[in-house]
Amino acid sequence: MEHGRSKKIYEEAKKYIPGGVNSPVRAFKSVGLDPVFIESGKGSRVLDADGNSYIDFVCSWGPLILGHSPEYIYDGIEEIIRKGTSFGLPTETEVKMARLICEALPGMDMVRMVNSGTEATMSALRLARAYTGRDKIIKFEGCYHGHCDSLLVKAGSGALTLGVPTTPGVPQDVIKDTIVCRYNDTSSVEAAFSENAGGIAAVIVEPVAGNMGVVPPREGFLESLREITKRHGAILIFDEVITGFRLSYGSAQGLFKVEPDITCLGKIIGGGLPVGAYGGKREIMSMVSPLGSVYQAGTLSGNPLAMHMGMKTLEYLRDNPQVYGSIEDNAVRLEAGLNAIIDELSIDACVTRAKGMVCLFLGKGPMESHDDVIRCDTARYASYFREMLERGVIIPPAQFEGWFLSYAHTREDIEYAIKASRESLEIAFA
Ligand code: PLP
Repeated sequence: MEHGRSKKIYEEAKKYIPGGVNSPVRAFKSVGLDPVFIESGKGSRVLDADGNSYIDFVCSWGPLILGHSPEYIYDGIEEIIRKGTSFGLPTETEVKMARLICEALPGMDMVRMVNSGTEATMSALRLARAYTGRDKIIKFEGCYHGHCDSLLVKAGSGALTLGVPTTPGVPQDVIKDTIVCRYNDTSSVEAAFSENAGGIAAVIVEPVAGNMGVVPPREGFLESLREITKRHGAILIFDEVITGFRLSYGSAQGLFKVEPDITCLGKIIGGGLPVGAYGGKREIMSMVSPLGSVYQAGTLSGNPLAMHMGMKTLEYLRDNPQVYGSIEDNAVRLEAGLNAIIDELSIDACVTRAKGMVCLFLGKGPMESHDDVIRCDTARYASYFREMLERGVIIPPAQFEGWFLSYAHTREDIEYAIKASRESLEIAFA
C-alpha cells in the first residue's frame, strides 16, 4: 500500500502542529507508523490522501454510529448553513435537542450543551462540588474523562497509550482532591469514603470503560456505586461520552437501569460535529448559571450546525431501533470470529464486548481492571495493527481503545475484518 502523499502531508504538518496532529492518538506513534491522512469517508469506509480505501473501525472515536456521511443525516444541511452558523443568541433547535436528550435518558431532567466531552466532565465536577459543598472526587484507574486537569490522573486513552497517565503541567494542588479507585472494585470505593468521611463530592465513572480497551462493569458494580454515593450524600456522575446513545437509546443508564445524578455526553450527540453536554436531576441542574450561581458558559455552545446534526442523528436512532440490534449482531459476529482465531492459533488474547463495543486484548483475560489490561502485549498489538492497515482495515491505533462499529458496517465488512485478523495475528504471533 502506497502512503507517499500522507507522508508528505505529515512532514508539513510536523512543522506547524505539535507531533503533526491535533489529538495525540491520531499520530500512530504507539504502533510505530506515520499517520494516514484522510480525504473522505462514506458508510463504513474511509479514503486516504493516497487513494487507499479502508474499512474503518475508529469511526471518529465514537461519534459516527451511523457511519460516514449518511445521506439521511446530511439532508437539508446546506440550508441550515446558509441560515447562519452561529448567533450567540438562542435558537429553537437547542430546545428540541435538549428535549430529545431528556426524553431518552432516565437520569436527565435538564441539560446544558457544551462543545466537547472534556468541557462536559469539567463542568459536571464543578457543579457536583458546588451542590455538595465538598472538594474531593473519586475517579477510576484507566478511565478517561477528557483532558481536564483534575481528571488527568491515572487516565486511560491516549494518556495510557503514550505512557503519561498522570501528565506534567498539572499542579499537585489541583489533583490533591482526586482519589483514584480500582474499576470494578467496590471495596476500594468503600475504603475511600471511610478515609474521607464527609469530604467526597462525587464519583465519576465510565459505566462501560472504553478508554483502557473495553472493560464492562462487573454485575452489581454500578448498582454499588449508586448505593454508596447515596449513602454518603455524594453525586454519582456517569461519563457517557462514549456509551451515550451507543449502548442503547437510553444509553448505559437505560441499559443497566442505574440512574446517575449527573450525566456527561459528547460524541454521538453531535453527529460528527464538536459537541458535549452535561445534565441531570432538576434540583442539581437548577444551580447552573443563569438559573443558579454555578458559572459555566460557551461562545459556540448549542451551535446551530452541531445541534442540527445531533438532532437528526438522535431522531434517526429513536425512530429506527433496529440500529442497535444490527450493530450488536455484527459485534457478536466479530467477537465469535476473533475468539475462534484465538482458539485456533492458541494465543494469549481475549475479546471483551458490551453490546456494540468490542475490544481484542493481546493478553490473557479476564480483563476487569486497569491492572489486567496493562499486562497486554502492546508490541504485538502494534504489529497486528500494521498488518490490518496493510489489508485495508483501520482498527484503533492503540491497544487501550475499543473498536467502534457503526450501522453502516456490513456483514461482509465484519467477515473481511475477521479474515484479515486471522492473517495479521498469525504474523504478529509468529
Ligand atoms: N469522556 C470519555 C469517556 C471519553 O472517551 C472522552 C474522549 O474520548 C472524553 C470524555 C473527552 O471528550 P472530548 O474528546 O470530546 O473532549
